Amino acid sequence: MICEMCGQEAPRLWKITIEGTNLSVCQKCEKFGRNKNIPKGKEMSASSDTISERLQRREKRLRTKDVFEERQDELALDYPKRISRARVSMGMSQDDLAKKINEKKSVVAKLENGDMVPDEKLVKKLEKALEISLKEKLGPVAPPKRSEAGKGMTLGDFIKVERK
Ligand SMILES: [Zn+2]
Repeated sequence: MICEMCGQEAPRLWKITIEGTNLSVCQKCEKFGRNKNIPKGKEMSASSDTISERLQRREKRLRTKDVFEERQDELALDYPKRISRARVSMGMSQDDLAKKINEKKSVVAKLENGDMVPDEKLVKKLEKALEISLKEKLGPVAPPKRSEAGKGMTLGDFIKVERK
């Protein structure tokens, strides 16, 4: 079974609803569907911006199709995969990467699990250390079909794929 949020194989899937969209997700991603219940202050300190909040803004943007809206780079929803893939391809352990970006190993582990959303500073450090981009351009110049397999896949892409 494949999680529709992170795309990873999961032993069982949980039904969640984000902004009226029903998703079958793994246990790790299931919390995004009920993050409203997380008491304030208990959220990840790296950012108060949760994935579902970003998703809501993105969905809104897609709905309004306002081509004159300013272009913005947003953290890719699949940043955990991008980080771990780049790290492994560079032959680094989580420990190695942690040292390279001057963070604790637990930070790297949380990032790769999607349990922590990196803030701007951390994103920059990761991008530099891993020679990758964790951002994706949104807005008017984004081509309507972005189907390069596995590259830059977003939750929206997964939903589209699932509904074919
Ligand atoms: Zn997942």
